[in-house]
Amino acid sequence: MANLIIKNAGWVVTVDPSRRIITDGAVAVADDRIAFVGKSADLARDFVADTVIDAAGMLVLPGFVDTHVHNTQHLGRGLADECDIPKQLLERLYGYESEMTSEDAYWAAKNCQLELIRSGTTCFLDPSSYYPSETARATGETGMRGIVSRTAFDIHNTTIGKMPSKTMFRETLAEALERAEDTVLHHNNTYDGRVRAWFALRILAGCSDDLCRGIRRLANKHGVPIVMHASESRDEIVASRLSSGFSDVERLEELGVLGPDMVMIHMGWATPREIHLAQKYGFKISYTPSTGFRLGMGDTTYGHFPEMSALGITVSLSCNSAMSSNYLDMVRLMNLGAGAMRSTRLSAFIFPPEDMIEMATINGAISVGMDTEIGSIEVGKKADLALFDTRRADWRPMLNPLSNLVHSCRGGAHTVIVNGRILMAAGEVRTIDEPEALSECQERGIAIARRSGLDRITQSPWPRL
Ligand SMILES: [Zn+2]
Repeated sequence: MANLIIKNAGWVVTVDPSRRIITDGAVAVADDRIAFVGKSADLARDFVADTVIDAAGMLVLPGFVDTHVHNTQHLGRGLADECDIPKQLLERLYGYESEMTSEDAYWAAKNCQLELIRSGTTCFLDPSSYYPSETARATGETGMRGIVSRTAFDIHNTTIGKMPSKTMFRETLAEALERAEDTVLHHNNTYDGRVRAWFALRILAGCSDDLCRGIRRLANKHGVPIVMHASESRDEIVASRLSSGFSDVERLEELGVLGPDMVMIHMGWATPREIHLAQKYGFKISYTPSTGFRLGMGDTTYGHFPEMSALGITVSLSCNSAMSSNYLDMVRLMNLGAGAMRSTRLSAFIFPPEDMIEMATINGAISVGMDTEIGSIEVGKKADLALFDTRRADWRPMLNPLSNLVHSCRGGAHTVIVNGRILMAAGEVRTIDEPEALSECQERGIAIARRSGLDRITQSPWPRL
């Protein structure tokens, strides 16, 4: 007995340990888990289900796992497009966050997840905001799988500029630790386990040594991982060296904070020693090429992501946010992530499609500590799936579906399933009232831009009639 059957699929790309691609494939789902994967012809006749999807011409993939998504930044699309990192963070991003209400944050998360679902992403890791409760609430409603975390800053005059004057950016060490712990206590393993909560060291310029050690102590106490941004830009590395004598990850080693239960986002400016530390401590790296491209950070020029992968370090792929990078589409990102490294290395042999698909699926699952549950299509795993309809001009002719997925198609999933539940069917999102969400996004986004004064400085210099 199953509750959902997908059959006649053109290709089921399992990303299982043998990396099998099954043509004319079928997947059966019982409750929230995968009960069968194989040829349609081998699907037992006694498998009956209420819902049967005829996936002729479709590519069935494990849902993408995006290891860097800022839900609350979604209403800020366009507010930081022409900025360098210090300006983007201190003036635009924190300015925007200072002006948003908790209801804004809820609608930001809903719209963020609308874009994620539409692109075939089924799980996200949110590397902190001041509104983890609102992100958790939205995730409960949309049906996605996600990890929330709360921002912890206790330095107000940072090496790259001053934090905003709003109280949330002015917490003491004790307040920051207490509120981060509350987030884990309230939200970890909620909504049938779909929502988890981690600790975060958002950006180290805003974190004292005591805060870094305190977050590590809490992570150990609760058995919960830590997510953070690290070695992101030259500006931050220079500032870190001037203030502490170390770059980001080297500083954390001195403090005794490093461990395998950490996801380091960016790492495009990782020093050779920091790459060695990734091997030594087993922390995971999230490659976010679109941010570096937009902000001109140079991480796609100088970053050593192919070398990290070759050394056995787990490298996943991530989109960041509408405000920082600016699209949440793993298909576009696989194309960009491979192309960036090929271009700077003058080599067509770096990051083949298989590497990019692993980064977007199973490596993401390993990074969030859920590879026994998600990241591949295997019997017993959670049913998190994305179906892409290849009967489109940008997919055909179809010789190699993996190559077309990474190099040719423009993305956009047809059907998305999380925990055995259909969130989007044939392009129609079932768990979000899309016209309502888009209307809230437009109105609230414009209102925040006006309140923060950022609406005037983000207009094109071309005359508007
Ligand atoms: Zn980020």
